[in-house]
Amino acid sequence: MGSGQVTSSVPSEFTGKHVTVAGLGVSGVPAAKVLHGLGAHVTVVNDGADERARTQAAELEALGVTVRLGDGDTLPEGTELIVTAPGWKPTKPLFTAAEEAGVPVWGDVELAWRLRGLDGREPAPWLAVTGTNGKTTTVQMLASILKAAGLRTAAVGNIGVSLLDAVTGDTEYDVLAVELSSYQLHWAPSLRAHSAAVLNLAPDHLDWHGSMEAYAADKGRIYEGNQVACVYNVADKATEDLVRAADVEEGCRAIGFTLGTPGPSQLGVVEGLLVDRAFVEDRQKNAQELAEVSDVNPPAPHNIANALAAAALARAFGVSAAAVRDGLRAFTPDAHRIAHVADVDGVAYVDDSKATNTHATEASLAAYESIVWIAGGLAKGATFDELVAGAAKRLRGAVLIGADRALIREALARHAPEVPVVDLDRTDTGAMLQAVQEARRLARPGDTVLLAPACASMDMFTNYNQRGDAFAQAVRELGA
Ligand code: ADP
Repeated sequence: MGSGQVTSSVPSEFTGKHVTVAGLGVSGVPAAKVLHGLGAHVTVVNDGADERARTQAAELEALGVTVRLGDGDTLPEGTELIVTAPGWKPTKPLFTAAEEAGVPVWGDVELAWRLRGLDGREPAPWLAVTGTNGKTTTVQMLASILKAAGLRTAAVGNIGVSLLDAVTGDTEYDVLAVELSSYQLHWAPSLRAHSAAVLNLAPDHLDWHGSMEAYAADKGRIYEGNQVACVYNVADKATEDLVRAADVEEGCRAIGFTLGTPGPSQLGVVEGLLVDRAFVEDRQKNAQELAEVSDVNPPAPHNIANALAAAALARAFGVSAAAVRDGLRAFTPDAHRIAHVADVDGVAYVDDSKATNTHATEASLAAYESIVWIAGGLAKGATFDELVAGAAKRLRGAVLIGADRALIREALARHAPEVPVVDLDRTDTGAMLQAVQEARRLARPGDTVLLAPACASMDMFTNYNQRGDAFAQAVRELGA
C-alpha cells in the first residue's frame, strides 16, 4: 500500500542514479523511500536536526538511505538530481550550487509526474487547480463531481491522498483532481495537465517568490501543455493573461467562469442556475443548465465561483451535466471554511478560520449582509485598508484578537469610524470565549457573527483548526 510500490524490478531512469532529497518531512520521507525502492542512491539533506528529524533519519537509514542532518546547504558530491521539498526557497545556496553544477531540481510534484506509469499501468490524466484561495474546496468539489460520474478518482494534494501515493499506490484511477501550490508549480517544469484552472491571483507568499510577477509566472505554469481546457476567472484578468501566455496543445481552449451571464466558451450564472456555454453544441446560441445555485454548499459568491471552476474542469473531461449537479449536491466543505456552527438568539455563528489572508476574508465578508466580525492574529505583512473599506457597510461591529490587531483597528478607524470595535488585549486560551461573548453583545437578530481573521493563527493557536475549534466551543457555551 502507499508509496514505495514501484520497485527496482523494472529498471528506470532512477536506477543507480545519485539523488539528493532536500528536506525531510511530509514529502521528503516518502520521496526518499520511493527513489530508494527504484534503486537510486539516495542522500537526504535537512537543515534541522531536532528529535522528529532524528527519528525520521533513523527510519530511512535503516533502509540504507544516507541522511545528513543540520546541513541543508551543501550539495553532496556526485549528485545527479535534487528532489526538493516544495517550501524550500529557490534562493537557497543548495540550489545555487546545483545550478552551477548543472544538476536539475525537481519538486515533489515533478517527481510524482515522472513516476506515472512506471509500474506499467496507463497513467491517469490530471485535472489541476491552483489559485491564491479556494484550491482545496474546488479540488474536493471536482472529485465529488467526477465520482458522481462513476469515475475512479481522488482529491490529491495538500489534504487527502498524497500525489506520490496516488501515482505509485495500489489504487487505480481514471483521473485525478490535483491541488497545486505556487511552490509546487515552481519546481514542476514538465507537468502537463489534461486541463487546469487558476481560480484567482492575489499577492501571497511574495517573500518566497521574490515578486508578484514571479508568483504569477509560477502559478501560470499550470497551464503549460494543457490538452483540452485552460480555465480562468473572468473577474480576475490576471488569470486570463496567464492563459494567453501559456504554450498549450493544439486545440486546447480557454474557458472562463463568471458569476454573471456567461458568454460563449464560458460557464456562469443565469437566474439562479449554473449554466455551461462552453461544452455544448453551438455555443453561440445554446447553454446547458448544470445545477441550481442552491446546490452549492455554502452558496456564498466565492464558493459558487469555485463550483463553476470545478464544473468547467469536469465538463472538459466529458462529464455530464447531471453528474455536475449530483457531485455538487454530495459535496460538504472541509471544517473551518464558512462552517455554520449554530444559531443563538437569531444570530448565525460562522467559522471561517481558514480565512488566513485578506483575499479570503474579503470573500467571506461579501457573503453576509450584516456582520459582527471577529478578526486578528498574525498579519504576515498584510494591510487591511482595502478589506475594511470594502466591507464597512456590512459591519455591525468588530471584535479584534491577536498580536497584530492594532493594524485592523487602525484600518477600521480610518474607513469605518462608526463601527463599534472591541479590542481584546489577551492571547490566552480563554480569549476566544470572551471574543464570542463580546460579539454576541454587539449582534442583533438576523446578523452573522463571522470568524474570518484575515491573519494566521500561530500567535494564539497551534493552527487555524484549533482556532476554529475554540470558536465553535465558545459558541456552544453561549447556547448552553
Ligand atoms: P486553499 O486551499 O486555496 O487555501 P480553501 O478552499 O481551503 O483554499 O479556502 C481557504 C479560504 O479561502 C476559505 O476560508 C475561504 O473563505 C476562502 N475562499 C475559498 N474560495 C475562495 C475564492 N474563490 N475566492 C476567495 N476566497 C476564497
